[in-house]
Amino acid sequence: MTCNTDLLRDYAFDELPAADRPALQRHISECSGCAAELDQLRLTTAALRVLPDQEPPRRIAFISDKVFAPSRLWNFAPWLGFASAGVMAVTLIFTVAHRPVEVQTVYVKPQPVPIDDIVKKAVAQTRAEDAQLFNARFEASEAKHDKEHKFLIEALTVMQQGHNTDLLLSSTNTTQNGAGQ
Ligand SMILES: [Zn+2]
Repeated sequence: MTCNTDLLRDYAFDELPAADRPALQRHISECSGCAAELDQLRLTTAALRVLPDQEPPRRIAFISDKVFAPSRLWNFAPWLGFASAGVMAVTLIFTVAHRPVEVQTVYVKPQPVPIDDIVKKAVAQTRAEDAQLFNARFEASEAKHDKEHKFLIEALTVMQQGHNTDLLLSSTNTTQNGAGQ
């Protein structure tokens, strides 16, 4: 018996007829290449069967097309490409379908009454604080205004006095200048 990857694949997937198994098993025991290939195939089938909820190894999508091509139904050269693509597509679909769900929708039960109460309370509190703040500011402003008003009057008085003094001085100067010339 020569190396036959198609038979190996069927054997790994438990699709090889019982009558064909002894010859293949004998070949595997003598051929290290086919034994290694069978190990790889078994690893793949084990991953698909035993760990359906975990993401299978990435290499599943890139595993040899020749190995995965169905042997009995589509063993015609023109169909090999399609067959490989089909098997690969099935493998990918299987992988995607068994990927663990990553997105979880958390439904939060609406609680309109308590939230409404909290909002109302907060608004009332804010309004009370605003009113308090406004009153305090208004009083401070009034006091400041009174102070400024007083200061302004005092300043005006001083300015007026200063102006009068200037007028007086300038008239004196003019008199002096006039007298000097
Ligand atoms: Zn072999």
